[in-house]
Amino acid sequence: MSGDSDGRLNPVPDPERMEVFIEAMTPPGPAHLQGLEQEALLAGVPIIRPQTQNLIRFFLTMNRPARILEIGTAVGFSALFMQHYAPEGCRILTIEKDHQRAAAARGNFIKYGTEAAGGKKTGIELMEGDAAQVLQEIREDASFDLVFMDAAKGQYIRFLPDAVRLLSPGGIMITDNILQEGEILSSRFAVTRRNRTIHARMRAYIRALMEEPRLETLLLPTGDGAAVSLKKK
Ligand code: SAH
Ligand code: MG
Repeated sequence: MSGDSDGRLNPVPDPERMEVFIEAMTPPGPAHLQGLEQEALLAGVPIIRPQTQNLIRFFLTMNRPARILEIGTAVGFSALFMQHYAPEGCRILTIEKDHQRAAAARGNFIKYGTEAAGGKKTGIELMEGDAAQVLQEIREDASFDLVFMDAAKGQYIRFLPDAVRLLSPGGIMITDNILQEGEILSSRFAVTRRNRTIHARMRAYIRALMEEPRLETLLLPTGDGAAVSLKKK
């Protein structure tokens, strides 16, 4: 058996060096979306990171979803990214509660959408509102082959029952930001008061994912932490 210089067994690589390495090895995303990506990053809009892009692209290629549900549109980067890699005819439904962001996303879908689809007939529909309400209004049970959960982290636990209901058997749900920039690893006592509620809710969400009998879930350190949940057939 081998250990590192501290004599520790199975040492874990330094996460920052690992991230730099993996990002360096990751090919850039779609060329026509790079302007939007830079714009969003400069404006402080929290869009999916390169590693998370890769993760999503992998499942789009593997599962070839006919319908995608996204919770948390922001300015539409991830929806356009998914549209680009989704199979022809795939329909994306995305939910955003912030009016300004929803308006920006609509503009971006027009500006980048056709090119993103590469001439394919893929549609993105945006529903503006709080996902907790909007999700309840979507009656097409078990009809989304991919769910991307990427909204307010403290709310995931509220969205879960509807997300599982809407996910098709064999479908995949990807939840972003489950590690909360590492804060989730700390004891709740080490977390500031303001963040304690989100911390507790995220831990409850992860536990709920693991205990949900209809799901099989994998927790990954990808990006800001991602959970991949398969809905059992
Ligand atoms: N998926 C986007 C980033 C989303 S950022 C991308 O990668 O490009 C998270 C977004 O979720 C924010 O724009 C925020 O306004 C939205 N959001 C937060 N709480 C929400 C809720 N309850 N319902 C709908 N959207 C919500
Ligand atoms: Mg995110």
